[in-house]
Order: sequence, then structure tokens, then C-alpha cells
Amino acid sequence: MTAIESLYQHYLKHPVICTDTRNITPDCLFFALKGDNFDANTFAEKALTNGAAYAIIDNLSYKTSKQCILVPDVLTTLQDLAKHHRSQLNIPVIGLTGSNGKTTTKELIKAVLSEKYNAFATKGNLNNHIGVPLSILSLTTDTEIAVIEMGANHQKEIEFLCTIAQPTHGLITNVGMAHLDGFGGFEGVKKGKAELYAYLKNNHGFAFINRNNHYLLEMSTTADLDKVIYYGTESTDTISGKLIKTDPLIEISWSDKGASYQTSVNLTGSYNFENILAAICIGAFFDVTPSAINKGLSGYYPNNNRSQITKTENNTVICDFYNANPSSMTAALNNVSLLTADKKTVIIGDMFELGNESAEQHELIAKQAEQLNVQTLIFIGKYFYALKDKYKGVFFTAPSEAQEFLKTHPIKDNMILLKGSRGMALEQLLPIL
Ligand code: ATP
Ligand code: MG
Repeated sequence: MTAIESLYQHYLKHPVICTDTRNITPDCLFFALKGDNFDANTFAEKALTNGAAYAIIDNLSYKTSKQCILVPDVLTTLQDLAKHHRSQLNIPVIGLTGSNGKTTTKELIKAVLSEKYNAFATKGNLNNHIGVPLSILSLTTDTEIAVIEMGANHQKEIEFLCTIAQPTHGLITNVGMAHLDGFGGFEGVKKGKAELYAYLKNNHGFAFINRNNHYLLEMSTTADLDKVIYYGTESTDTISGKLIKTDPLIEISWSDKGASYQTSVNLTGSYNFENILAAICIGAFFDVTPSAINKGLSGYYPNNNRSQITKTENNTVICDFYNANPSSMTAALNNVSLLTADKKTVIIGDMFELGNESAEQHELIAKQAEQLNVQTLIFIGKYFYALKDKYKGVFFTAPSEAQEFLKTHPIKDNMILLKGSRGMALEQLLPIL
């Protein structure tokens, strides 16, 4: 028996994995991972005291009892255990990546598949080299189908995550201007995301592709994919759809095998049309009936500050401050132009991780925002602030300054877009809106 097979026997008896001693589930396996500022080997004993069945460690000095399992590297062991577990499960796994809309699309797919299956989807945003193994290790013998979100900000990351999740089906939501610094520009983003197509090709998996996205078509041709299911706006697509309205919530019509359906979803933003269509396409592929697909979609309520509508005392706010990059910012601004509200306000914050394209990308967004017919336009962050003499709008370096401004210039009865990178923490403004 290999070391992983032997650890797997422990996992089968103790299938809950914990990595944080502040939330230990009794009888779990504790993996002592290392972070930038901590080494969880030092917490192994505490984990055991708090009820963990075993602690997986990679530093002999912390082996205080038989319940400490010493391995060469805790992270690699976690990943290898997940790979081993995945290979024991004969179920479809949908691997999902893309620059924007992964989590939203994942939740929509789960909502649709759950109408027919015991479906699992990545919890929250656990989509990296630790999150993907943890997601896989959450699958049980009762799981019938899984949707695994895979995030990346550099090359070879998706390739590696695929070796863990071993997707039988895959979806790239889109490729855009995100994590440009890590990927080395937009061509790098395409190359990095296409690693999912390459994996599917080599393992005879199916890809769901948005035929309206020419980058994805080009990437699928390069990967020489043969098992492809298309969705899009043309009647020749397996699942075709049209956006009927997004004001502020979305309504779409869609067709499958000549029959047409209509559905409304509690999401705002025209860009969510393609996310919804992807979920419909995957649901239909896995034989969820059209009425069950619609039921799943209309029962979905976002609660994660992604394209979420919040009514405040004075305004309606499109809460989209979970993250931002040039592609999602452009999509959000386009959506503002489609809204028919009488009074509109746009409050946008800096976009991070754009490397040496930062100044240029912020300028492109400022230019676009300036074209919008809105009552108030507020820019927050040092990149936007640098453009204050060139573009219309009110500029602040930090949310606290904007807060002061809003106290003396209150906004009322507006539809407000509030969007920026996570680090800008624009949610601080919500109480004053
Ligand atoms: P992360 O990289 O943080 O995991 P993600 O890819 O999971 O992000 P979501 O969290 O679903 O993406 O959405 C984040 C934001 O991206 C949304 O609030 C919205 O502004 C934007 N977005 C969602 N779908 C699309 C899309 N199809 N095209 C462009 N922008 C989108
Ligand atoms: Mg996500």
C-alpha cells in the first residue's frame, strides 16, 4: 500500500478535512498547511486537542503523538489525496474556468442540476490549488454530479487543477482582461484558460462552448476539440437563447430541439445572459427537463455581491463590489446604459492585478464611463484619481473620502452601480447610499 492509499483509509473513516484550527469539526483530518505568515504544523497539537482524528504534518518536531501523520509535504499530500479520491468516483465532473462569471455560472449550473441530481458545486470561491482539492474531497459516494470552479492567475495552473478534478466535461465562461500581470497579457490569458480544452481533448471529455465568443471558438479549434456542445444566439446552436430584458432583473427566452421557453432570473446585468445560457445548456445535456431547468434558475438568489440588487433606504444599488477587471467593468457599464431608470449613478473603484497595463486600462474605463448618461459619476482609487483632470466625474483616492462627499451630496431615488476590485472594499459605501 502506498502512503496515499494508507492515508486514504483514514480519510474514508474521517472524511471531513479541516485546515484551520479555529473551525475544527470533531473527528476530522487536519492538514497543517503553510501560508505566507503561518506554519500550521505549530497548530497540529491544538487541532488534536480540539477533536481532530489525525493531524497531517510535514515537520518532525511537531510529531507529538501517534495521531500525527508525518508526510514529506502537506500541500502535495492534500492534492494527491484528492486525485486519488477523484479517481475512485465514477461520476461526471464539470470543470469550470474563465476570466469572469465562474462563481455565478457555477451556482446557476448547480441550481439547474440539483433539480434532477444530488449535485455538488464548489463552495464559495474555493477555486485554487487548495480549494480544488478540498472541493474534490467533499464529494461523497452519494454525489451524482459535480461542478468544480477552477481559478488561475498564471500559466499551467488550470492544467494542474485538471489533474486533480479530472473533469469529464468543461466550460470556459469567457476570456478577458483579468490577471494580466500573472498571465503575461491577453494572449497569455487565452493560453492559460485553454489548458482546460487541452485536458478535455486528451481525456475524451465534452466542452460546452459559447458560439458567440470568437476567442473560445479559436481556442477550441486550436485544441482540436471533437466533443463540443454549442450554446449561443443562433438557431443552429444546440441551445439558443435571447436576452429579452435586463431592467434590472433578467428575462431570457431559450430554445431546445425546436421548442421555446422563457425564464426570469434574480440577477441583474446583461452579461449574465451567457452565464444563464451555459447553465441551461448543461442542464439540457444532462437531461434536466425544460420546466425543471426554469424552476432551478428562477429559484436562484445571489447572496454574494455579484450582480446583486439591493434596495437601500434611498436607492436601488447594483452590488457588484465583489471584484472587477476591465472586461467585467465594461460589461457592467454596458449594462448601465441598458437600464431605463430615470436617475442613474455610477460609483466605480480601481481594478487590481493589471501589471503594466493598469494606467491604460483605467483610462479606457474612464472614457467609457464618461459616455454614460448618468446623474453622478464617482471614481475611487489611485489609478482613477490620476485621471481627474482628463475626464468628467468626481474623483477620490479612497472610499473614506467618497463617504464624506456623499454625506454632503446625498444621492436619492437612483439606480446605482457600485463596482470595484475586492481590495477597494466599496461595500463601505453601502450604508450611506
Ligand atoms: P473570481 O475570479 O473572483 O473567482 P468569477 O470568475 O468567479 O470571479 P463571479 O464571481 O461569478 O466571477 O463574478 C464576478 C463579477 O464578474 C460579477 O459581479 C460581474 O460583474 C462580472 N461578470 C459575471 N459574468 C460575466 C460575464 N459573463 N462577462 C463579463 N463579466 C461578468
Ligand atoms: Mg469565483
